[in-house]
Amino acid sequence: MEPTVLGQRDALLAALKAILPHVRSDNEYTSGEHEAYSQALAGAKAAIAQVEAAILAAQPVAYTPPHACLHCGPGDANLLPGYPGDDGCPRCGSLWADTFMARLEAGDVTLAPTDKDYKVYIRNDDGAPFKQTFGSHHEWNPDGSQGAKVGFHWITRDAPQTKFYFQALSPEQQTRFVELYNAKRLKLEFPGHFYRLPFFMRIIPPEEQPAK
Ligand SMILES: [Zn+2]
Repeated sequence: MEPTVLGQRDALLAALKAILPHVRSDNEYTSGEHEAYSQALAGAKAAIAQVEAAILAAQPVAYTPPHACLHCGPGDANLLPGYPGDDGCPRCGSLWADTFMARLEAGDVTLAPTDKDYKVYIRNDDGAPFKQTFGSHHEWNPDGSQGAKVGFHWITRDAPQTKFYFQALSPEQQTRFVELYNAKRLKLEFPGHFYRLPFFMRIIPPEEQPAK
């Protein structure tokens, strides 16, 4: 039988109530009490997991990211049920690495350096606009202002820029990024170079450079 949210509610409340008699400050526990508390806590965690599973099962759509975000680390693919996706990580907002590299290869974006060695802003330059998705309890007017209060829903709108975290690049993509940089195929905004180099790049010292 499919778990239901309401069906799990009573089990969760019972599990949480079972913890209460066992709550003491740390140094007041006897070993027996601590055992009882641990068991009650494990029961509550299991009940919470059941409720979470029931909530997920109740959603008509479960967003599955195309791959784990290497910036955020592997996560629950169903973290945001109903989330429509916008070509970026739903947790940190970084563009997916494959999309980032494809846009660099296409040359239809500019990069705005930052003072972080792991982050860059990426702006559309005559290519497809980026997408920005957010959840809201309000309607949003065409001019970008907030409208009437409605039920929770997801909104995806065009955005002129987004961000990218370099941690998301695979080693092969890092190598390709350096190639594009050295070939001067990256369109870097002011000041025209990375004043803080991405963490996987370094200036080659003169003694390491091939003789001319
Ligand atoms: Zn992320």
